[in-house]
Amino acid sequence: MKTFSEINFKDKKAVIRVDFNVPLDENFNVTDANRIEAAKPTIDKILKDGGSVILMSHLGRPKGKEEKYSLKHIVAKVSELLGVAVKFVEDSIGEEVEKAAADLKAGEVLLLENLRFYKEEEAGDEAFAEKLAKLGDVYVNDAFGTAHRAHASTTIIAKFFPEDKVFGELLAKEIDSLDKVLKNSEKPVTAVLGGSKVSSKITVIENILDKVDNLILGGGMTFTFAKAQGGKVGNSICEDDKLDLALDILKKAEANNVKVYIPVDVVAADGFKNDANTQVVDVKAIPDGWEGLDAGPKSLEIFKDVILNSKTILWNGPLGVFEMETFAKGTIALGEYIAEATDKGAFSLVGGGDSVAAVKQFGLEPKMSYVSTGGGAMLEMLEGKTLPGIAAIQEA
Ligand code: AMP
Repeated sequence: MKTFSEINFKDKKAVIRVDFNVPLDENFNVTDANRIEAAKPTIDKILKDGGSVILMSHLGRPKGKEEKYSLKHIVAKVSELLGVAVKFVEDSIGEEVEKAAADLKAGEVLLLENLRFYKEEEAGDEAFAEKLAKLGDVYVNDAFGTAHRAHASTTIIAKFFPEDKVFGELLAKEIDSLDKVLKNSEKPVTAVLGGSKVSSKITVIENILDKVDNLILGGGMTFTFAKAQGGKVGNSICEDDKLDLALDILKKAEANNVKVYIPVDVVAADGFKNDANTQVVDVKAIPDGWEGLDAGPKSLEIFKDVILNSKTILWNGPLGVFEMETFAKGTIALGEYIAEATDKGAFSLVGGGDSVAAVKQFGLEPKMSYVSTGGGAMLEMLEGKTLPGIAAIQEA
């Protein structure tokens, strides 16, 4: 399999699947250009080599062709960030698109219309993929956010480039970061899993049990474990049908020599609101009418010690209801411990959903080794699944 840096793109036309699914305000201005910036190194390298670029992406969830989801709204922003006047065609396939692609000269960039204006995209339609494939000489997949979808432009298209398909720099970096955590990791390895429910994290937990030394479990999951161990959890979120599963996880962890850390104390509230009354209580003695919404100070001290002694750290899911300031302290503290460990030389990967939003919100992103760009895709990789978009490039 070729790597991106090995290819010289001189006089080549690269069809790149990017994830330009960016948020727009009511005047169609891009409000967060992170995803465009994330694809820039890949595009820059191709242009610098003397190649040209055909960009394809989806935007939102249109039902057919809907003007508000047109990628024409982002042309100015992409042009500004790339420093190239990006050409745009109001279609993704067809004669006009083929002509625009054929006319592209070295150093030029063409952006196609929202792929999801065609239902064939999400259906993984082969004829549609073939029409996209006709536009270029090399296929580059740099859209990690959709790598878990077997869509025409993310997966099916690869078969039309048996010799000329590669991961872009962003997608390669995502795969490499996960490998650093789960395959070639430096020990001790610690995974912090938070979020709301055991049921949504169970596959991740099971997949990583033989790969980590420490497992910190927090967030809403805490209470299913506390109750399973005989605790009183008051009104805290708790999956009563997962109590046996929680005990089973603890047994499996022990069998794998994984040390499991669950909060010993929590910040409990008398309502699910920012200005509720709060008190710090033992995780197994939450008074009736109260619910645990964040990890408590004793727990944070224990977590700090584990994190600062780790060489590899994976973080998925907040420790509390961080959307409310009153219950964000545990998540912020955890992010700061991970930042400190990273500063001391540990490798840290944050990915798979809400913890990414949390590190961004609290300004911790630059202090992590890598923050994943794909929520669902990263979660599926943590679950040990093979993503179709990745397999399509790796398959001979
Ligand atoms: P997930 O998408 O599974 O990672 O869950 C993230 C969500 O879990 C966030 O919206 C948090 O507010 C929520 N969460 C974290 N801790 C708790 C808790 N103790 N009780 C209820 N929800 C929580």
